[in-house]
Amino acid sequence: MPRTFEKSFTQQEPIPEAAIGRAVDVMRTGKLHRYNTAPGESSEAALLEKEFADSLGVEYCLACASGGYAIHIALKACGAKAGDTVITNAFTLAPVPGAIDNAGCKAALVEIDENYCVDLTHLESVMQKSDSRFFLMSHMRGHLADMDAVVELCKQYEVSLIEDCAHTMGAYWNGKPSGSFGQAACFSTQTYKHINSGEGGFLTTNNKEIIAKAIIHSGSYMLYERHGTVPEVSVFDDIRLDTPNYSGRMDNLRAAILREQLKHLEENCCRWNKLYDAAEAGLRKSNAITLSNRPDQETYVGSSIQFRVDSLKDVNGFIKNCATRGVELKWFGNSDPQGFTSRYDSWRYLGTAPTLPNTLKILDRTFDMRLPLTFDESDMETITAIIVEEAAQADCC
Ligand SMILES: *Cc1c(COP(=O)(O)O)cnc(C)c1O
Repeated sequence: MPRTFEKSFTQQEPIPEAAIGRAVDVMRTGKLHRYNTAPGESSEAALLEKEFADSLGVEYCLACASGGYAIHIALKACGAKAGDTVITNAFTLAPVPGAIDNAGCKAALVEIDENYCVDLTHLESVMQKSDSRFFLMSHMRGHLADMDAVVELCKQYEVSLIEDCAHTMGAYWNGKPSGSFGQAACFSTQTYKHINSGEGGFLTTNNKEIIAKAIIHSGSYMLYERHGTVPEVSVFDDIRLDTPNYSGRMDNLRAAILREQLKHLEENCCRWNKLYDAAEAGLRKSNAITLSNRPDQETYVGSSIQFRVDSLKDVNGFIKNCATRGVELKWFGNSDPQGFTSRYDSWRYLGTAPTLPNTLKILDRTFDMRLPLTFDESDMETITAIIVEEAAQADCC
């Protein structure tokens, strides 16, 4: 009997009891709206903003409705206008091109390299060829490109860097937190990310005008002074009148459960990395499987793992055989988008997709697996043994 795996790949850990307690306290007050505060009182949403900004070592944080929403208003607050071109990596999640479209902008897609990072040579050529002033860099699946080189290129071509840190909350490049390299950064607190409020997002920045615009965009009305991290009131003089309200606030209930989870972020990142390291060690047993190289400067959060089986002939058969044995793999190379995954050429609203041969070649044989914290290291052994066996089967036949 071949071994099978029984646990669910989409089962989160429960929300910590302290977070539940805090949420119940908020509900008892009835004051779920972030601006429903007594004079001198700070809302849960405002406190969360301060705590997240401090944890990242940046000046300002805005808590809002989702990660995709944070990206949309980050683009707007950084000055992107309808018709502008925004550079972004071709390997990312659908909310990223969606946010670009939502800002009325066009996307210029960049190739990825073998390590799932943006290809810096291609990035430079796109920067040269386009007149784009924005690089929306998605640290897709937690892979950090050489951030020093990226920052340098952005400087050279006078491009604003906006980081999508949906998978890098808690990660570092050269000891500097992911999300502290550009003009602004965006995070998601959606259930499958590193802290979980169902839906939610953050926008962070050190720039006074950007945060003031983002706060007004998010739907602060004229109550912006009640935010957790606000520049002096004079910054809002014109911005409060010139900036539309795109209503996408965070509420106190979500903020309450996030505040407690933020305290455990670091410890949970270590737990993810134990799972990741165990998965990597298991997969390295197969010659058919290629894993990405992770540079020494990168302190990643291994909440998912990607690997390639280059010699595979029947991709769907391999996925199906793994699934039959309880191992759920995602395939971003599928020409037909499935579930959460989609290939860049399926975002038809972006217009004619460029041909990005390296990205297509890599994604064509790349598999992706979530590593929920409800798994343990012995689960990793079972899972990777199944994958290794199935890769060998598929390889030989
Ligand atoms: C989840 C995700 C987002 C957007 O987050 P939402 O909160 O779901 O809108 C953006 N980028 C990437 C890479 C993501 O995985």
